[in-house]
Amino acid sequence: MQFSKVCLVFDAMEETASRLALTDLLAKLFSETDKTEVKKLVYLCQGRISPQHTGIELGMGEKLAEQAISLASGAKAEEIEKLYKKSGDLGNTAQEVLAKRTQHSLTQHELTIAKVYDNFYKIATISGQGSQDTKIKLLAELLVNSAETEPKTIIRFVTGRLRLGTADATILDALSVLKTGTKELRPSLERAYNLTSDLGLIAEIFYKDGLTGIEKIIPIPLNPIRPALAERLADAAAIIEKLGECVVEAKYDGFRLQCHKDGDNVAIYSRKQEPMTHMFPDLVQAIKQQVKVKTAIFEGEAIAFDEDTQSYLPFQTTITRKRKHGVSAKAKEIPLVLFAFELLYADGIDYTQKPFHERRQKLEKIIKNGKIIQHSKIITAKTPEQLQIFFDECVANGLEGIIAKDVNALYIAGARKFAWIKLKRSYQGNLADTIDAVVVGFYRGKGKRTEFGFGGLLTAVYDDESNTFKTIAKVGTGFTEEQMQWFNDTLSKIAVKEKPKNVESNIEPDLWVTPQLVVTLTADEITRSPTHTCAMKNVEGLALRFPRLTQIREDKNATDATTEKEIVDLFNLQKNIQLRDA
Ligand code: AMP
Repeated sequence: MQFSKVCLVFDAMEETASRLALTDLLAKLFSETDKTEVKKLVYLCQGRISPQHTGIELGMGEKLAEQAISLASGAKAEEIEKLYKKSGDLGNTAQEVLAKRTQHSLTQHELTIAKVYDNFYKIATISGQGSQDTKIKLLAELLVNSAETEPKTIIRFVTGRLRLGTADATILDALSVLKTGTKELRPSLERAYNLTSDLGLIAEIFYKDGLTGIEKIIPIPLNPIRPALAERLADAAAIIEKLGECVVEAKYDGFRLQCHKDGDNVAIYSRKQEPMTHMFPDLVQAIKQQVKVKTAIFEGEAIAFDEDTQSYLPFQTTITRKRKHGVSAKAKEIPLVLFAFELLYADGIDYTQKPFHERRQKLEKIIKNGKIIQHSKIITAKTPEQLQIFFDECVANGLEGIIAKDVNALYIAGARKFAWIKLKRSYQGNLADTIDAVVVGFYRGKGKRTEFGFGGLLTAVYDDESNTFKTIAKVGTGFTEEQMQWFNDTLSKIAVKEKPKNVESNIEPDLWVTPQLVVTLTADEITRSPTHTCAMKNVEGLALRFPRLTQIREDKNATDATTEKEIVDLFNLQKNIQLRDA
């Protein structure tokens, strides 16, 4: 397919915020694509060239892109720089200077999706001596052959500035609309996507083998599975009422890891499906030694553990193991214990389709309990009292609380279900749970904070129905000086001039940012608010009272943030707790 067609649709997509309109635009584009190109097209729509877990990222610096524009157009670097300063958008600048070429190259070829994608892929993967020059040439080759709005799209894409607003869910909807005219196939497509985390692969299978191919998909070792998530209830009694006799596990406050063993290959992924294998040589070794089958996928929570005092260390300590440099030294200084809690696949069998009790039995059988990998602590509770005793014991041991699990439930990848219910230690005067909010804007500092250029955050929760972020709190407390500096640096990089189209807000921060950074907040309670747009009905929404920053969650995606629906549930939960305590 000609790349110019893709650009026209991308232009239209940048102009619309309506999910329905985006779906229709994509479905039309897909209808003109064949099975040999659809995978590449889907990645491009996701703003990527390969699924996240492969670690292949394009991210070309603006300076290199400017050099490629200069090479392709013959315009001087200073001229490009000047125009860019004026427009603030390197894509527009590229389009402007390339349109000024008086003579088009005689050897100009029409760009296809395959050509553009293949050059992007080479740019992302080439390394070593001379690779910078090759990258510039590969990009310039595309620019020389581009026309109309193609230069703009190409440059925005390689510099990570293409803002299509396509959530994965919209792409899944569009694939369904393509075949049936409705969204009816979305659940099947989504299930397959949640099991493989590769939307390009799903689209390709769908084009080749239709729904039958999609329904046959089971987990693939080395492809991360999107994690199952926990619901919450107010107390032990509510949990037993909901689940009856259930299994209760200790809730460790570390980070969730998904471990894949495929013969001698071991891969470890974060809950966001990022590759983390290189960060945990100690865990890789332990997986090779303690997992007794050839292929397996299992999940666990990694937490720093102090051998001397036999105690769990706080999240702030555990998180220091997430690093690119000095990995081995840190592994010795802060050893991790991985508490394995879920088995998803073993030697060709899809355990996501087996009830919890079977998964657990198999997990205990194939993973040898050892020093580094241990089975998560588990009991069976028939009564609220039994659950409460275990909860108190976990909290006394410095853990976060418990997760109760329905013994008969299947593992539903990527979904928040009552198959898992969390109960956390709650401090008096605090919400029953923390909130994972997305930063959508920030305020400049006043007084002492001026030196950091940082005064606080405007945060939002996620509405998964409309794929928008709705504001819930302005957060000005809980920051260390180091964090202020960090926020200032990090947010400046993702600042945008106008309110992003997927943000709903009635207030205007000093600077808007693209919604991508997640922070954990705690607060006294959820209150009704005329200002914030979360759960806004008529003129009243919901807001956090006295919000404080507790953690920066680089391990979560914006779409993993607390949802608007969860806030409404928490608000109702809070009312019940208040009524009960009154
Ligand atoms: P939350 O992030 O507060 O919604 O709680 C759910 C998270 O608890 C999961 O994503 C895991 O990272 C973590 N967790 C800790 N211990 C367990 C456990 N035994 N079973 C399941 N999840 C656990």
